[in-house]
This record gives sequence, structure tokens and C-alpha cells, in this order.
Amino acid sequence: MVVLAAFRRRLRTAAEWARPSLFPAAMAAAMIVTAGLYYEKQNERVHLNELQGAVANELNLIGARLQAEIGANVAALRSFADLYSISPENAQSQFHLFARRLLLQNSQFRRIGVAPDAVVTHTFPLKGNEGHLGIDFKKFGSFRTAANLDPRQREPMMLGPVQLPNGTRGFDLFMPIFTQEPGRSALWGYIDGIIDERQLYIDAGLIGAADEKSRPGWAGGKDILLSVRDVSVANNVQDPFFGDPAIFRNSPVLRVLDFPGGRWELAAIPRGGWNNPPENRNEVRLLIAGAAAVIIVPIFLTGGLVSERQRNIANLKQANHRIEHNALHDPLTELANRRKLDDELNKLAALSRQEEIRLGILHIDLDRFKQINDTLGHAAGDALLVHASRILRSCVREEDLVARIGGDEFVIVIGDTIGQSYLTALSQRIISLMQHPVDYHGHMCRFGVSIGIARTKGRRLDTRQLLVNADIALYRAKALGRNRYEFFTEALQAEIITNKRIADDILSGIENNEFVPFYQPQIDAGTLKLAGVEALIRWHHPRDGILAPDRFLKIAEDLNVVSTLDRIVLEKALIDCSRWAAKGVIVPKISVNVSAKRLRDETLVNSLTGLSINPGQISFELVESIFLDETDDIVLDNIAKIKALGIDIEIDDFGTGHTSIVSLLKLKPKRLKIDRQLVAPILASRHEQALVRSIIDIGRSLGIEIVAEGVETMQHAEMLSVLGCDLLQGFAFARPLSRDDFLTFATANQWKLAS
Ligand code: C2E
Ligand code: CA
Ligand code: CA
Repeated sequence: MVVLAAFRRRLRTAAEWARPSLFPAAMAAAMIVTAGLYYEKQNERVHLNELQGAVANELNLIGARLQAEIGANVAALRSFADLYSISPENAQSQFHLFARRLLLQNSQFRRIGVAPDAVVTHTFPLKGNEGHLGIDFKKFGSFRTAANLDPRQREPMMLGPVQLPNGTRGFDLFMPIFTQEPGRSALWGYIDGIIDERQLYIDAGLIGAADEKSRPGWAGGKDILLSVRDVSVANNVQDPFFGDPAIFRNSPVLRVLDFPGGRWELAAIPRGGWNNPPENRNEVRLLIAGAAAVIIVPIFLTGGLVSERQRNIANLKQANHRIEHNALHDPLTELANRRKLDDELNKLAALSRQEEIRLGILHIDLDRFKQINDTLGHAAGDALLVHASRILRSCVREEDLVARIGGDEFVIVIGDTIGQSYLTALSQRIISLMQHPVDYHGHMCRFGVSIGIARTKGRRLDTRQLLVNADIALYRAKALGRNRYEFFTEALQAEIITNKRIADDILSGIENNEFVPFYQPQIDAGTLKLAGVEALIRWHHPRDGILAPDRFLKIAEDLNVVSTLDRIVLEKALIDCSRWAAKGVIVPKISVNVSAKRLRDETLVNSLTGLSINPGQISFELVESIFLDETDDIVLDNIAKIKALGIDIEIDDFGTGHTSIVSLLKLKPKRLKIDRQLVAPILASRHEQALVRSIIDIGRSLGIEIVAEGVETMQHAEMLSVLGCDLLQGFAFARPLSRDDFLTFATANQWKLAS
């Protein structure tokens, strides 16, 4: 059973394998079998023809021999009759002599008689044939019939076979004798000779001499069965006297034998019958089977190979599909990748050349993703990205494209029926879903998203520009605080263009030396004398005049050139300082602002060592927000090196950030600058007063000097000096002044300068 099942299974597998060829193979098999059958029929027909030919040949041979034998007997009897024609009396007297000679010379004759007027008068041998004498042939019906066939009765007749007195059978041959009388010939009588049937058959080759008895149906031919019948009388066909009568009914090959005095019909069939299969039948069948195999097996194999090929093609297609999919998708989130996004945008651009389309793009950036990645590891980051991708996918329609184009950046392309309200609702939904904290192995991760949206409609759209616009809007959203969306607008566009122009101008401004420091005096709260200056950058714009930092610093930050500007300010301040000194104005201290970027710059210290700086002459103002989460080694290292160069550290805008006592202790700045937002309300608000007082107290206790900035009135100045501030800076004393204006200011207030 198991073997059978295994066999069936294998058969099924083979059938499966060759399935495409089953039909063609079946067709071919049917055709081959049909052709084979036809061929076999044809072969049998040919075989039958051949058989018939062979039978006819042998039959002809036998017929010819039979005819020759009978002809010889007739000839012998005729010469006997001729003797009588010349002189019947003479011949009668010598009958016995002639008859003996005839029987000696013709072995088939058994008896000779002479019958004048058809009545037997002499017979030889007489012994045993006594009864023959006196017989009147005319009394025999068969004789009369035969004689009447020939109206002139000139031809010999052969009757028989007849039963002979000795028990054998023979043919009776009658030869008419005509005497030649003057003027006419007259029938005188007959010579009658008995031909031994068996001897005739033996001599003609119908039977073998070795056979003692003639067996009916046996014929001399090795390959045929023969039967013979007398058809001398057309309407009185006799039963066969030789052979099996059935032969005549078995589609025999026939041959009619005419001889003097009679007509026989010979019938022959093959010894094995007609239905004997052709000898080559097995070969033919083998040939057909071989041909079938030769044709069907390759079809089968071809079918198998074709199906295998089809399977391979299918596999290849699948692999191609996989490769293509991989090439166009992000393996982590299964979202489309940048390439796929580009493809899709190109397609939409092409489509918009044919018809008007509407299109919306959301550029999405995860907030705080980097921190999570850094603190919880990449696996957490990956999990978050997958989480975010699911949210995005769930918020859009099936036909919308969601792509991940960078670490934590996603783009959604929404085609068709896009209104501002739809995009707004979509963005709000995304933001609210993303704000839900996610549990990662017990850590509740919080993150948010900023979304920039750009939409357009029409023909011949620049889809790439649309993506850029969404990016601009995203930038704006991030700048305005996180977890919000922002639409790209014409105003934003204009601003971008302006900013771009400003950016270009900043770069050329640096080359053209357009950036200069202005100087705002700092006054000693106790003596009201000049204690120093803060160098503040100004742009001497060739067209727009003097520009304050709020017009360009943000853009410069984006351009990454603030460090360069800081350096320019420091270098120029040092030069100006020595110029003033040459004019007799000694400025005890110059403060310059240092951007966070610059503080992180590893080449900062190197660039400073080339400058000639006296200890305590230069102070670096660092914005408090720099230290917000500062554990940065480079920053701390730089600060230490800066201090080592004799440069003081001041903390700018103090009171707005979250600097802790611990980091103050760690940093040990020379001064704190109280932010002007805290200074402005001190006259009116006790609360701000108390705040400023406590900052001053902290500074005092840590040995840090206190600078108040934004001192706009002398009342402020008084109050601050009462509270214990060391230095005062603000419009109450002076606005930031150009190099030359400051020289004028300092000279005019010479008496106030600190000694
Ligand atoms: P900051 O460091 O807090 O500079 C003081 C700002 O307060 C200056 O603005 C100054 O003009 C202004 N100010 C001085 N006294 C008063 C006052 O009594 N009332 C009011 N309302 N304002 C007063 P400015 O020059 O426009 O500079 C703005 C900011 O730009 C600076 O704030 C500083 O953060 C940045 N900045 C200026 N120059 C540089 C520079 O060379 N490098 C860097 N990195 N930043 C600079
Ligand atoms: Ca400052
Ligand atoms: Ca400040």
C-alpha cells in the first residue's frame, strides 16, 4: 500500500511536472495510434496482395503442369486414333499391339478401348476389364452431354473422374475417329482411354508421389491448398473432385483450365488461410510503438521542461518583484522610500501635463527622535519609527503615498480632492496620535511631530518644488515651536526669497568687510565711570545702511557663519581698542558674544592663541541657554582653555534659562548678566526686584560679579546699584556706538573714565 501510494504520488508529481504537455502528448498519441492502425491495415493489405500473388503463382504452375499432362495424354490418344482413321480394319487387327505400346509409353493410361459407333469392341488389358466390352457409350448421359457440346464432334472429350472396377478412380478420355472416305469424312467411332487419377495428380504435382493415398485437400504446392472442379458445362457446375470443397467458399484465387474436351476450375488458398497475420506484424507494431515513443517522449520531456521553465520564469518574476519592491521601499517600516517618492512625483508631474490635478504634500519630522535614539538605543528608535509609520498609514487613504525619506522624516503625498480643511484635519489627527506616549520595554517614550504642508493644483506642476515648499513650511513649523503644522504660503515664500537674498548678501558682506562691531559702554555702578564695552555686531549694508543683528543673525546661523562673524567682531574690537588707546582712551574690558556653535568649535582655542590678548581685557558672553543640558566635554574643555588664555567668561541673559547652582559652580564665570527682561520691570514690580536681588546674592556668595543690562533710565541705574549690581549697561548711559562715536563718547566723558 505504501509503495503504491508512493508510486501514485510520484506519478502525480510527474503528471504535475509535465502538465503543459499532457494535451499535446495525448493528441500526438492519438495521431500516432491512428496512423499506426492505418499503417497496419495497409501492411495487412499488402500482405494479402502478396499472399494472393504467391498463391496465384503457384496455382499457375500447377495449372500449367496439369494442362501439359492432359495435353500429352490427348496427344498420345490422338496418334492412336489416327491409326484408325487411315484404316480402321487394319488398326483393329493390331489393336492389342498398339494398345500395349501406348500403355507402356504413357504411364497414366490404365486401359484402352476402341468403340466403333461408340460400342466397345476391343479393350486392353482385357483382364479385369471384361465388363467393358460391349458397352455403348451413347447410353451414358454424361457422354451424350459431352458429345453434344461439340456439334461436329471432332474434339476429344474427358469425363470423370469415374469409379474403376479395381476400386481406383480415373478420367475417361474419348477420342473420336473419322475415316477419310473420298469426298467426306465420317465419324467411325471412339478410342477410349482411362487415365489414372492419382497418377495424373502425382505427375502434375498436385500430390506427392510418396503419398500412398491421395488425401483430399492436399495439394502439391508447399504453400497452398487446392481444389478442382469440372465446369465444362456452364450451367451444370459439379462438386469439386479434388481437394476440400470449402476452398471454393473461402475467397480463393481461381484459375480456369481449358483442355481438349473439358474445362476445369482450380481454386487455391494459402495453406494457413487468408487470415494469417503478416510475418512482419510484430515488427510493424514495434515500429509504431517506437515511433510513438520517439515522438511522445520528447513532447513529454519538452512539456516538462516548458513547465519547469515557466516555473523558473515565475520564480524570476517573483524575485524581480521582490528586488523592485526592496529597491523602492524602506525595509524597516515597509513604507515607500525616497526613490519611490521621486518616481511618484515624476509620474504626477507627467500626469499634470495632460490634465489638471490637485496635490497635497505633508512633510513630517519627528521631534525628540534623536534623543530617544541616543538614550534608549537604536532598537527603541526603530520601534518608534515603526509605530510612527503605522500611525501615518492609518491616517491616510489607501491610494495616498506614505514615504520615509530620512531617519525621522516622512512625506505623505495626497492626490486629488485636497482642500485646506482636509489637510488641516489630517495634520491635527497625526499630531494628536503621535503625542500619545509609547511604551518601550517599560520606558514611556514621548515624542511629537512637526508638519509642513504644501498644496497646489493645476497643469504642468513642478512636483519637486512642491516637496521643497512642504520642507520650507516644516522648517517654519519647527521654528515656531514643536508639535504643530504650518502651511506653505506666498508670504513664507517671499520671506524665503528675501532670506535667500540676505544670505547671499551676508556672504558677500563678509568678503567686503561690511560687518563691524558697535560698542555699548558698561558703567561701574559705584563710581559711574566707564568700566568696559560690549561689542555688538552691526552690518554696514551698502544699500540698507546699518543693520542690527535681528535682521541677519538668524540667517547667518542657518548659513553657519556666526562663528566667522564672532571672530570678525573680536579681531576688530581688539584693533579698535588699540586705536582708542593710541588716542588716550583706555577701555578696561571688552565683552564679545560667542555663539554656541563657536563654543563647540575645536579650532576655537587655536584661532585665539594668535591674538594678543591681555589678561582680563576680553570677556566672552555665553548665552545661558548654551548650558541648558550641558555636559559636553568639548564645551567644558574649550571654556577651561579660554580661561587659561586670560579670557573671562560671562553668562549672558541670565534668569531666562535654567542654569543650576551646580553648573555655576562648575563653570565659575567671572560675571553674570541679568537679562533685560528682568531688569525692565524692577521699578514697578517687587517680585522682579526680589528676583534680581536673589541673583545678586547668589553671585555675591559665589564671588561672581553682576552686570545689569537693559538699564534704560537713571532710576533703574539707581535701584540696581542699591541692589548691589557691579556694572550697568543700557540706553540710560548710551546706545551701542560706532568705533568713532564711542571714541567721541569716551573723550567727552573723560572725567568719568575709570582710572
Ligand atoms: P545681547 O547680547 O543681549 O545684547 C544686548 C542687546 O540689548 C543689544 O541688542 C543692545 O542694543 C540691546 N540693548 C542695550 N541696552 C538696551 C536697553 O536699555 N534697552 C533695550 N531695549 N535694549 C538694549 P543688539 O545689538 O541688537 O543685539 C542683539 C543680540 O544679538 C545680542 O543680545 C546678542 O545676543 C546678539 N549679538 C550681537 N552681537 C553679536 C555678536 O557679535 N556675536 C553674537 N554671537 N551675537 C551677537
Ligand atoms: Ca551680550
Ligand atoms: Ca544679553
